[in-house]
Amino acid sequence: MTQVLDGAKVRQEILTELKPRVVDLTAASRPPGLAVVLVGNDPASEIYVRGKVKACAELGIFSQQMSPPASVTTDELLGLIENLNDQSNIDGILVQMPLPSHVDSRRVLEAVSADKDADGFHPTNVGHLVANRPAARACTPAGIMEMLRRYNIPIAGRKAVIAGRSDIVGKPMALMLLHEHATVTICHSKTSNLAEECQRADILVAAMGRPALVTREFIKPGAVVIDVGMNRLSDPATVARVFRDSPEKLATLERKGSVLVGDVDPADMAEIASAYTPVPGGVGPLTIAMLMANTVMLAEKRLGVR
Ligand code: NAD
Repeated sequence: MTQVLDGAKVRQEILTELKPRVVDLTAASRPPGLAVVLVGNDPASEIYVRGKVKACAELGIFSQQMSPPASVTTDELLGLIENLNDQSNIDGILVQMPLPSHVDSRRVLEAVSADKDADGFHPTNVGHLVANRPAARACTPAGIMEMLRRYNIPIAGRKAVIAGRSDIVGKPMALMLLHEHATVTICHSKTSNLAEECQRADILVAAMGRPALVTREFIKPGAVVIDVGMNRLSDPATVARVFRDSPEKLATLERKGSVLVGDVDPADMAEIASAYTPVPGGVGPLTIAMLMANTVMLAEKRLGVR
């Protein structure tokens, strides 16, 4: 039987396990603190940040939101980060991406102190990941590893194929699976025969940002398919084709103006995979949960609790 990997359930488990750790920290010293830097008014970024601040409130984590205008300079942002690095009630700092094009994103991300790097993007923490040492890890792939672990999906000795090589998903995902002893292949936009590479996967992770690009000929029967993609479809013909004329999806399109789809064709995935993450409700809920986990872990380190 096909298993649907439920991200909301795993998210809740992770948050429930974090709660007593937050209580212990608060009793021993102070609540963990997360600073969220949101530049400008990008609506998608605003939604993401709202979700992160809300999760903090639910858990009892102190959150501080800084919202400089889109016109902020790189130097001004560097100054702001420096202050947060020095602030004693802040354990984690997150800079919401993307930043406006005139800002030097790399310099800003690297300015975050490695021991307050809640997103695991700092080169020092990327190095720790490469060396398989404990440190804050990129939240989305770390959440996927939690999902695989909690559903007892074996990794050692299996072939994993990652479609996508971004610094925030594809590359760290490949390293995390490698550390669990998978045989890992990384595919990208220049890979020839993507379908053939993906067909070999026991565990297939699609993280390209290409709506429903992965179809039945990419999926080995019985594979575990992790669909990271979050794409919005607004063309009625495409929605009808991808969702096989689903009245529910067409109604959503009419109501909201767009429908969310992953990188994997949902019907093909449900038919061929042995287990898969749906979109929405699969990988999406895990990212914020792991951001909370990173923040609590950084606070425990900073405060010497645990
Ligand atoms: P990105 O644009 O930084 O990277 C995309 C990668 O896919 C690149 O490495 C590129 O080489 C590869 N790629 C693109 N087109 C390809 C093709 N046709 N064939 C093979 N490879 C191709 O994207 P990202 O930030 O890694 O995000 C990927 C997707 O995951 C997006 O849809 C994004 O919205 C989603 N995402 C979801 C979450 C979540 O919490 N669910 C978190 C992060 C990203």
